[in-house]
Amino acid sequence: MNIFVLNSGSSSIKYQLFRWPAERPVCSGLVERVGSAQATITHQVFDLQAPANPPAETKLTLPLADHEAGLHEVVRLLTAAPGGIIADPADIAIVGHRVVHGGETYAAATRITPAVKAEIKRLFALAPLHNPANYVGIEVAERVFAQARQVAVFDTAFHQTLPERAFRYALPTALYTEQRIRKYGFHGTSHQYVAAQAAAYLQKPDARLITIHLGNGCSMAAVRDGQSLDTSMGFSPLAGLVMGTRSGDIDPSVLLYLLGPLGYTAEQVNTLLNKESGMLGLTGSNDMRDIGAALAAGDARAALAYDLYAYRIRQYIGAYTAVLNGLDAIVFTAGVGENDALVRSRVCENMEFFGLNLDEDKNQQRLPGLRELNRPESRVKILVIPTAEELEIARQCADLLSR
Ligand code: AMP
Repeated sequence: MNIFVLNSGSSSIKYQLFRWPAERPVCSGLVERVGSAQATITHQVFDLQAPANPPAETKLTLPLADHEAGLHEVVRLLTAAPGGIIADPADIAIVGHRVVHGGETYAAATRITPAVKAEIKRLFALAPLHNPANYVGIEVAERVFAQARQVAVFDTAFHQTLPERAFRYALPTALYTEQRIRKYGFHGTSHQYVAAQAAAYLQKPDARLITIHLGNGCSMAAVRDGQSLDTSMGFSPLAGLVMGTRSGDIDPSVLLYLLGPLGYTAEQVNTLLNKESGMLGLTGSNDMRDIGAALAAGDARAALAYDLYAYRIRQYIGAYTAVLNGLDAIVFTAGVGENDALVRSRVCENMEFFGLNLDEDKNQQRLPGLRELNRPESRVKILVIPTAEELEIARQCADLLSR
């Protein structure tokens, strides 16, 4: 059964094709600058018989008017001989869509119906940067893969198990009951995937875990019994940790100060907090590789930024250990979490009280797959688990439709 996983952004399309139940994708790709005359497609085909072989890669630069044109081009690549993966778009049985916001309506993967589409549309107001692009992806996929079953997997769904004390803000009740202002949490598919991997590795289904997703966006979750009990992002993906370009937690009075005495418009504040803050605001770069290099060269701004980044994570580890009443493992994942040894080292420094004891030699090794980085005497396991959101989406699609 072919499952096509689609992540449709405002000007990009990310995709992976799974020949289920194989958990490795047969191909993956990225379409960028959709809507321009210089759009690009990077399409990789993997040799599942010899996974160590490098993928066969096709790179194209071409005009793509819109997402529909982009997806048609992807279909052309999927069906092109030689190396064609499918003979016809009708060979795709399921399209699994990553949808960022499912509000309070969706706690699991959901078959897309007109009512589901209407709800995703209603949630545009809560996720103006993401849901409209996800919606376009659904509409286009319904036309291009007309025979396939379309499934939505929501980034918020995993966090629907948060207790009310964790998801409510101390605002007048009507703002929750009438306007649905509350913590939703994001990156749910990633937290769910790595938490399940960790629990399986520990052979402890009821493990108390703190999952730490550090990519361009960063978030943490407190997970027990495979359920999310709290998470650091909130009403939007702006809250919590210091991120590549997002500020994370900030006193809301700063916004009022910007909007009032400093004369910013709401749009400027939005841009400032989402696109110009975080590591970019602190250092001038949002890429940890650049910031790590600057730090190594003695740059004081980079040093402070690393400190702040790790300090915030450590604060959340403390908070979530209290939420969980103990801790079996912390899990690092995503671009920074999987690759940046210095971040992991800073996070685990002076955390003996919390039972974290990092083996610095293991931390420095670059190995693929799940890794355990703690010393044998560490009370808490320190794990690196590569995230695989597309695989998790494919898995949830297959589960949903086998029921
Ligand atoms: P993601 O959102 O998971 O794709 O993560 C993207 C981020 O991961 C990039 O912005 C980089 O800051 C970071 N990253 C990727 N590779 C490395 C690396 N080798 N060392 C440190 N950071 C990395």
